[in-house]
Amino acid sequence: MTDFQPKIILYTADAMNERGEAVLEQYPDAEMMEVRQHNRLPELGMNHFRVKSDVLVLGRLKTLECRWSGRSSDYISPSLANGCFGGCAYCYVDRHKKVNPITLFTNVDEINSAVDSHVMSLPWPKTPNQTDPVFHTYDIGCNSDISVDFSLSNGVREVFGFYRDHPRAKATFATKFVNRDLLDFDPQRKIRIRFSLMPSRVSKLVDVRTDSIEKRIAAINDFYDAGYEVHVNFSPVIVYEGKQWREDYRELFRELNAALRPEVKAQLKCEVIFLTHNQWQHQANLAINPKAEELLWVPELQENKRSQFGGWNIRYDHQLKSKMIRVFEGLIADEIPWCDIRYIF
Ligand code: SF4
Repeated sequence: MTDFQPKIILYTADAMNERGEAVLEQYPDAEMMEVRQHNRLPELGMNHFRVKSDVLVLGRLKTLECRWSGRSSDYISPSLANGCFGGCAYCYVDRHKKVNPITLFTNVDEINSAVDSHVMSLPWPKTPNQTDPVFHTYDIGCNSDISVDFSLSNGVREVFGFYRDHPRAKATFATKFVNRDLLDFDPQRKIRIRFSLMPSRVSKLVDVRTDSIEKRIAAINDFYDAGYEVHVNFSPVIVYEGKQWREDYRELFRELNAALRPEVKAQLKCEVIFLTHNQWQHQANLAINPKAEELLWVPELQENKRSQFGGWNIRYDHQLKSKMIRVFEGLIADEIPWCDIRYIF
């Protein structure tokens, strides 16, 4: 995984608890600057990627709400962080911001306590569903990549401990990085890591500054051995070059089948999400990553949908998508029949 070494750390006064101070101590050579709000940063005169490499923001999360999901998890936890080192061309975390450095929220005790109150108010035992047969599940990584955040602050480790020890709650997050620091923690299967996978040659174009698909697949057995539950996240599924995408997925599934041990396969499930894109992001990508954009922006296959945040989202035409979903299910049934699909859309 990348060695993130921020050159500038921006922090709000209310983020300066023991975790915030420990982060500042971890990077003594970084320039430190106090800001009034973590989400209104001063003009830094840096481009999209430099901000992601050079800047770290520390803030205090004020909205401590658990939101219903029903897909990757039952609920979405209040964010532990926002922003990411990666620069994936389709990333929705980046979609509504000009600059998006990693912002860590240091008030993890308040976040954990909000989750605890939330989960303790839910019926118990839980009615089993696709997210988990036993525990209420919380996605802790919807706005950042937790594998990266884990090494930046002890706060994330504290959160891992909270879920490991909680009698009713289980954490989950998707990742595009392999951070071996996580292997020192034994979550006793109370944390589900979901490695995101797509055909390698496409990932090289669109998953900017993340770990390679080969590296992610090679890590799955190790994460299982360390005590994680490991699933995979086939997302976003990008359709390209006529039927070529199907052949590339077939190849990916064969690689996965060959790499995993039987006991790892027995617990591994997947989720599948076809690409949605966005008009604003399309314009930004034309300047930043035009080669990736050729794969993402294919108007003859796509339709518009008004986004809840304003602007237009673009997704595959719904009739076409129903066919693609059947194709994808067929490929899984052929090549990795041991892999249950938790949901596909
Ligand atoms: S790794 Fe995830 S959060 Fe980071 S840029 Fe890529 S899609 Fe976004």
